[in-house]
Amino acid sequence: MKAGIKIADQWLRQVLEILYRKRDLSRGEIGESTGLNAASASYALRYLLDRGTLVKRAETQSAGRRRREVFNLNSEAGYFIGVDLEGDRIRFALTNFVGDICCRWEVPLEFRQPLDPRVVVDGIRKVSLDPIRRDRILAIGVSYPGLLDVEGRLIAVNLGWNRCPLVQELRTVFPWPVFLESDKHSCIVAENWLGAAQGRRNALFLIAEGGIGLGVLLDGRPLSGLHAVPGEIGHWKILPDAPDLCNCGATGCLEAIASSPNVVRQYAELCGVPKEERAGIRVVDVFERARQGDAAAAAVLQRAGRALGLALSHAIALLNPEVVILGGDLIGAEDILVPIVLSEIRQRTLPVSLEGLKIVISSLGLDIRLKGAASLAFRKMLEDPLRLRSMCTLDPAERSATALQSPRPDSEAALPGELVCS
Ligand SMILES: [Zn+2]
Repeated sequence: MKAGIKIADQWLRQVLEILYRKRDLSRGEIGESTGLNAASASYALRYLLDRGTLVKRAETQSAGRRRREVFNLNSEAGYFIGVDLEGDRIRFALTNFVGDICCRWEVPLEFRQPLDPRVVVDGIRKVSLDPIRRDRILAIGVSYPGLLDVEGRLIAVNLGWNRCPLVQELRTVFPWPVFLESDKHSCIVAENWLGAAQGRRNALFLIAEGGIGLGVLLDGRPLSGLHAVPGEIGHWKILPDAPDLCNCGATGCLEAIASSPNVVRQYAELCGVPKEERAGIRVVDVFERARQGDAAAAAVLQRAGRALGLALSHAIALLNPEVVILGGDLIGAEDILVPIVLSEIRQRTLPVSLEGLKIVISSLGLDIRLKGAASLAFRKMLEDPLRLRSMCTLDPAERSATALQSPRPDSEAALPGELVCS
């Protein structure tokens, strides 16, 4: 590279981001996707190749066409930890520099039983045991249910947490930056970067499992809201006169009718299963019984599906998305619950809002929040100029030098108070 050329942060940021989102790109495709001119893209590519952050290989195309050079991130250039705190299992993953999961660990979460934050520390330790990879870990990303208070403490009913200073806890144990993002946000960003919302500017992601929420991509940006909690549709009073009691204390919420534990509850009540015998019933069992013609299971799914469809019809009318992606436990119910949801959407939505709308099942599967959390860590590292440069070198000394000088973003600021979990 010519001496004196200054490589702009923005060039590096754009090249790293596009190669994380789309692999195997030629020089021309990188320029086209990023809008960088040929010289800027070339300088950035050379800078990253020289430091081992990128790899280049020749790809043979079909007969009669010449070979082309394609670029990729070097999968071993760095690692990220993803933590998913939603659902009936707490999940941990170590992902490589291209976002593939290298190792994972998970632990069951008892519904309505408080989670000990030390379980999160243990999980991160478990997936970072390999010393070679551990030395190259760059950051931790956490996808959480619930909301953060103004001091960054987590309030999550399903985890039994009331103002839990999780970031502070993790920063006392681990040397890496910690970034938090709500589960709905993680999912819609993961779909936008890697899944069905790629190239879309307006998309919705419905999570329906332990809780219910909506991730929103609006005009190309994930919606953040005032307290990072937009899309809390689980507490829409979808059947205001229904007696179903919600975790929030109200009745008639969408979540009280259509979340997976409540689907199981209603089925058990209809069948007269005593409370102490319900623990072994999972939502997939209710799906399976409905497939086998069980009338009680079918009735519960009909009620849940219609409630989900009605809620989505309101969201579609409000936000006019190009694509609605169904995730969580709906992934395992494409044949039995999803048709009810779709039928309700069609009945309840103005035809003009349905024009051109695609409704699909998430192809990212149950790993979506783990991948979303790891991509959060990657995204946040790109945003900070010093951390960005630390991602562009494999030299551990250079890496830690830049990381130490880096200012901490708000979400990592030292948080006051004892660990309070109830
Ligand atoms: Zn509620």
